[in-house]
Amino acid sequence: MGISDLADGLTRRIEGLGSSVSESLFEPVIRLGVTGLSRAGKTVFITSLVANLLDRGRMPALTGQSRIRAAFLQPQPDDTVPRFAYESHLAALTGPDPHWPEGTGAVSQLRLSFRVQPGGLLAGMRGMRTVHLDIVDYPGEWLLDLGLMEKSYRQWADEAFARLSTRPGGADYLALARQTDPDQRHDEPVADRLAQGFTAYLHSAKDAGFSDCSPGRFLLPGEKAGSPALTFAPLPPSASPRGSLAREMERRYDAYKREIVRPFFRDHFARIDRQVVLVDVLSAIHAGPAALEDLRQTMADILTAFRPGRASWLTSLIGGHRVERILFAATKADHLHHSQHARLANITQALLREARDRADFAGAETQALAIAALRATTEADISQGETVLPAVRGRLPDGRNVALYPGELPDDPAQLLSSARRGREDWLARDYSIMDFAPAPLALRPGDGPPHIRLDRAAEFLLGDRL
Ligand code: GDP
Repeated sequence: MGISDLADGLTRRIEGLGSSVSESLFEPVIRLGVTGLSRAGKTVFITSLVANLLDRGRMPALTGQSRIRAAFLQPQPDDTVPRFAYESHLAALTGPDPHWPEGTGAVSQLRLSFRVQPGGLLAGMRGMRTVHLDIVDYPGEWLLDLGLMEKSYRQWADEAFARLSTRPGGADYLALARQTDPDQRHDEPVADRLAQGFTAYLHSAKDAGFSDCSPGRFLLPGEKAGSPALTFAPLPPSASPRGSLAREMERRYDAYKREIVRPFFRDHFARIDRQVVLVDVLSAIHAGPAALEDLRQTMADILTAFRPGRASWLTSLIGGHRVERILFAATKADHLHHSQHARLANITQALLREARDRADFAGAETQALAIAALRATTEADISQGETVLPAVRGRLPDGRNVALYPGELPDDPAQLLSSARRGREDWLARDYSIMDFAPAPLALRPGDGPPHIRLDRAAEFLLGDRL
């Protein structure tokens, strides 16, 4: 390396320093985390939020918006984090043949920057300021892994076995585990078969409506798929001598926590300022009481992450940083007539009660809303004899245009949640199961983003004070 290379390296480092100093002093960055379980609606939410922040015609409730002079996408600042594929997701939703994009499978990020005119007394005295919004998309399943951090392999495996006996798909894995001698010498094909069997069970449990299916990376492996740290499974208690299968499983479980879970919390989670947690409450209500109760417990577990006081290793990672605001958003509200939206928000609030109490405990401000990031329906009345049912109309994936009445949500959320603990009851009409509306073809006016329900209220809560 020559002197000029050295000098070059030095100037560049100083420049780099300069830009980070000026950025942190004059150009504030808001890091907005977007999470939720698989299919909760993260990808659609981010795509529509960004489109509606770029073209703000449909964002009247975002108070700062009158001061935004320009909004534009920038290369995202973290070189090693995949960029959120905004353009292709938007093309899927708003192109000539609109369809839903592929959902979130791993962490990704996008930077949106605003040029904002200062308001108030300083309005005339200061020039434009720039505010960066870094949106971080990550699977809620990964937050569930927080629960593993303080469990040993044995504790985790014992709990996994207790669930296996009561959940769909569990019997096959139990049989496989019982046929396997945990004290046999470690053998990769055997480990692989066990890990695959356990993953297959997690998928069946998930398909049957169970939400808590950790380890989170088994369902959504991200780029680490196939690595030893993801190739383990629970085995019954044994002596686990050196070199045995059981010993290796335990080692890999520890590697999973150390090499996968911890870095995720350190690199992504620890830096978030504002958080939106998307919850598909309607699908859980439709799937039945057990699924709703499971969702309630899972959300409580997920949100433990926002009360870091409980986990000392997490507190040390996060330091003094904390999430200031958390929005709980029930998604796909366009599946219901607007007369039901308040009930949906109340149910969401009640469902997350325990979880919210924990997050509130950490000093974060919280709110619950019923939203649709992309409105795929219009409202319609269905006449049935004397009565008129408040329904929604939309296009099914097979192209049929139908009006459906999904039934009525109870006024009192306690009614739903307490019967969720007791047993089977049908809350939403059978119509609900075919509510798989495709996005509607759009003809957007210039300046308008895609149609939504209360996305502007969500944005106001999450960002309004910072714009
Ligand atoms: P992710 O796995 O959390 O990223 O979920 P996606 O954003 O991919 O959404 C999962 C599915 O939920 C989509 O394919 C749509 O079928 C549906 N969905 C998401 N958002 C909306 C919405 O605002 N309205 C309607 N009607 N459906 C939605």
